[in-house]
Amino acid sequence: MELIDGKKIAQQLQDEIAAEVKQFVSGGGKVPHLAAILVGDDPASMAYVGSKVKTCEKVGFKSTLKKFPATISEAELLHELDVLNNDNDIDGYIVQLPLPKHINEHKIIEAVKPSKDVDGFHPINVGRLVLDLPTYISATPFGITQLLERYNIETSGKNCVVIGRSHIVGSPMSILMAKNDKFANCTVTLCHSRTKDLKAHCLNADIIIAAIGKPNFVTADMVKQGAVIIDVGINRVDDASLPKGYKLVGDVDFEGCAPKCSYITPVPGGVGPMTIASLIKNTLLAAKKEIYA
Ligand code: NAD
Repeated sequence: MELIDGKKIAQQLQDEIAAEVKQFVSGGGKVPHLAAILVGDDPASMAYVGSKVKTCEKVGFKSTLKKFPATISEAELLHELDVLNNDNDIDGYIVQLPLPKHINEHKIIEAVKPSKDVDGFHPINVGRLVLDLPTYISATPFGITQLLERYNIETSGKNCVVIGRSHIVGSPMSILMAKNDKFANCTVTLCHSRTKDLKAHCLNADIIIAAIGKPNFVTADMVKQGAVIIDVGINRVDDASLPKGYKLVGDVDFEGCAPKCSYITPVPGGVGPMTIASLIKNTLLAAKKEIYA
């Protein structure tokens, strides 16, 4: 069994991006600039946005964090997006989700200018992904493809089971794994909460990508010998012995499954670190106008 070290690969990716930024700027290019919109004071969202801004600084980007109270109206937020859409110094921006209930997330996502949508959530960018056109691939699925590629994991012709059909992870992941690409070309089965006999599907899988949001959901009896497991889940589980009172676990029972796997991602330290590195990569693509001229 080989552990897929997401922390190490994310650092490699960041180092590569930092070198590319240096070269781009010294050749007369503009310093890439990522903005983030944070609404409310949810601690997890604040932590995610904080790490994104910190990573921008590390790779030589400019970053702008725009914070608004949870009481901001939908119209006011749409106005803020309009400001960013028209600010020529901002190459890309993200709106940290989830948003307060009174704001329609779809409306907000559709208001982001597609050329600045470095999260890759806008319908135009999702459509471009499906049609094999250059696009911003949403960060978590993009990070996973990078892990498979950099560990040189054979995917062509393999059975891949993706568990979870969310718009940010499961659904784009299933599209990517079925593509006619070197580190894809899988026969993909997209499983979800209504799937019958999930265990049978998993036992047939050479690659399992779990994005469910349920701690330790995938157990050893569901895993074929030699399978590759990518665990996207980040779940808090109470643990009174730890100072924080909880620990983070994935959607996969790591202890039970790891001995059967050829490769597996740990939680934390697997997919998580790749997500931010991928967002930064998308911002560099935006600054270099590689997706939209
Ligand atoms: P989500 O809640 O939007 O989707 C969960 C999916 O799991 C749904 O499509 C549902 O059909 C499926 N599901 C639920 N119960 C099931 C069952 N019993 N059998 C089969 N499928 C079932 O979640 P999400 O946003 O896709 O996130 C999934 C997990 O990944 C969460 O733990 C989240 O925290 C984590 N996550 C991690 C990263 C990262 O950077 N590592 C990024 C995004 C999400």
